[in-house]
Amino acid sequence: MTDDSVTAWELLEKQQALEKMAAEKYPWNPDECTRHMGVQRQLLYVCQTCQTASGKPNAICYSCSIRCHTDHDLVELFSKRAITCDCGTNQIKGDPCFLRKIGELEKSDNAFYGHNFNNQFCECDSEYNETEPGIMVQCLVGTQCQEDWFHERCILGLSIEEEKAARKALSKPVESSGVNLLDELESAHNVEHSEASEEPEATGAFTTDSESEDEDETLPGMPNAGEFDAFICWKCLSADDFSEIPGIRVDRVTWTATDSGKRNKTVQTSLFLRHGYEKAISELAKDSPAVLSLVKKHPFLVEPEQTYEPPQDDDANSSIFEAGERALQNLPREYANNGIKAYSMMRDKLTKFLAPFASEGKVVTQQDVATFFSSLN
Ligand SMILES: [Zn+2]
Ligand SMILES: [Zn+2]
Ligand SMILES: [Zn+2]
Ligand SMILES: [Zn+2]
Ligand SMILES: [Zn+2]
Repeated sequence: MTDDSVTAWELLEKQQALEKMAAEKYPWNPDECTRHMGVQRQLLYVCQTCQTASGKPNAICYSCSIRCHTDHDLVELFSKRAITCDCGTNQIKGDPCFLRKIGELEKSDNAFYGHNFNNQFCECDSEYNETEPGIMVQCLVGTQCQEDWFHERCILGLSIEEEKAARKALSKPVESSGVNLLDELESAHNVEHSEASEEPEATGAFTTDSESEDEDETLPGMPNAGEFDAFICWKCLSADDFSEIPGIRVDRVTWTATDSGKRNKTVQTSLFLRHGYEKAISELAKDSPAVLSLVKKHPFLVEPEQTYEPPQDDDANSSIFEAGERALQNLPREYANNGIKAYSMMRDKLTKFLAPFASEGKVVTQQDVATFFSSLN
């Protein structure tokens, strides 16, 4: 086999893997921009290409991420409550929104964005790193943190080194064989990390570690993932009176040096709400004016909040392929906007073209592929 050839099987397998991945990641019909729906909890993306062009932050809805920013560099932010889609607004330099069919750029609804829109997360301002062990949790309230995501170590006030030591202690075998297994454990750990490919879920907590056995295991001092349903960060907790709200309170202990050489201890408390907290809090609100005013301010404390989802995609093939191509970042804009059906037909022709190669295990060369594409014109 020469370098510029692949077997038809390889091409078909790639195509199927791509379809599966796209169907899981983009199950909805990307036909409507959510901007006219106003503020609501929804999946959002940041378009880094448009951010670089305009020098301003932006939030992009699911549909616009697929239809208007097809060949752009996008970062998924999971769901946020208080932001509307910026496609076709003055936060973006370039084309008005294709889906809303507007003639010129409109004024953005968003007054502030928070650092997630600059690809920074948590109190430590770090980039999201899916190979890091542990879970990150999103703050339910967001009045102070803009619904930020937090590391376990930062909720506890630990340094990266302290976290490492705590995780080593967690993974230490109970029965000692007299041999130091920590190095082996460490390397096994790393192999698993490099194979981690699962998409984090768009819920309140996602695990960034692929270790299945200990998925539930968090750092000492933190509740395990199964023990809580929602998280309120120390900043949002201190901005309102949450004193009567039940849950698991976790202290973040940090030390700062003073001029006199002493160290000052600071304790900042976060709150983990248990499963069924909505019901418990609405019971409390009946008797407590403080809880009632809290609930009026944050209605999601007593009623489960819906995350907006576009309608399910019934014409799965076309948009699956469109999305799959987006993942490869090589779909021409005209295809994404106007020619989904045409593209889907081309895909079918390609499958037919490849079938005989596949059944005979024959090699498809670049020349074969070039001939096929020129036959389409
Ligand atoms: Zn939009
Ligand atoms: Zn863009
Ligand atoms: Zn758009
Ligand atoms: Zn952090
Ligand atoms: Zn918060």
